[in-house]
Amino acid sequence: MDCSDTRRLIDASLDGELDLPAQLALEAHTAACAACREAYARRRALVRRVRVGGESFAMPDALRRRLLDSLPQGEPSPNPVPAPVRRWPWGKAWSWPWAWLTGGLSLASAALAVALTLVVIMPGRDAALERDLVDAHLRSLMADHLTDVPSSDRHTVKPWFNGRIDLSPPVPDLAEQGFPLAGGRLDYVDGRPVAVLVYRRARHVINLFVWPEPADPADAPRFRGAQGYNVLHWTGPGLALWAVSDLNRGELEDFQRLWSQASRSS
Ligand SMILES: [Zn+2]
Repeated sequence: MDCSDTRRLIDASLDGELDLPAQLALEAHTAACAACREAYARRRALVRRVRVGGESFAMPDALRRRLLDSLPQGEPSPNPVPAPVRRWPWGKAWSWPWAWLTGGLSLASAALAVALTLVVIMPGRDAALERDLVDAHLRSLMADHLTDVPSSDRHTVKPWFNGRIDLSPPVPDLAEQGFPLAGGRLDYVDGRPVAVLVYRRARHVINLFVWPEPADPADAPRFRGAQGYNVLHWTGPGLALWAVSDLNRGELEDFQRLWSQASRSS
């Protein structure tokens, strides 16, 4: 088995897809060939870091290529000339390229770990936030604490937040469009107080959580289901907005569109 055969088999081996003779041949080659051993180790480290806690997140191919390219290559020429062996005072063999490679690798793998952590943690953080929001939604329904200021009048609800929270959320009136305002309250989500606007749609409740957050205007609304509830996230000028409801997706998206249009003029 030569180097290019080996490289082709590395992924299959890490996926547990090689039969025993092929696996043994791969191991025999990597035991003897430093370049392939290194390639195998890099690939294994990459796979291990992407599979965290039993969950896999697909890394975009372009990112994987960039990360792998950023690692030192350390590929010896096809017929490397053996370097003269130097020795430590206690007799152990010492070699320049290996010491250099190890140092370079640990820097590069630190960078790789940071990049992969970002890729892996971000979905987790959003999922935790969504759970928090759905929990707050459920609390508001079960503890009979839907509103601190029960009112369908936006001129009552909007000023109620003054002095209670560092935010004056837009409070559009959507009664004519079938989403009457039921009031507002303060809640506690993701470790901070947030404003909540409560709207109704027939017998359904929509909790709209609002907090200040620098917004990326390119952010499109994102729909998620969590614990049997529908969660819709979007951003306004300097605001993060999360609507949680048992309302169906279509009507929740109607609500989002109407709320965003009306909030620009309220
Ligand atoms: Zn090789």
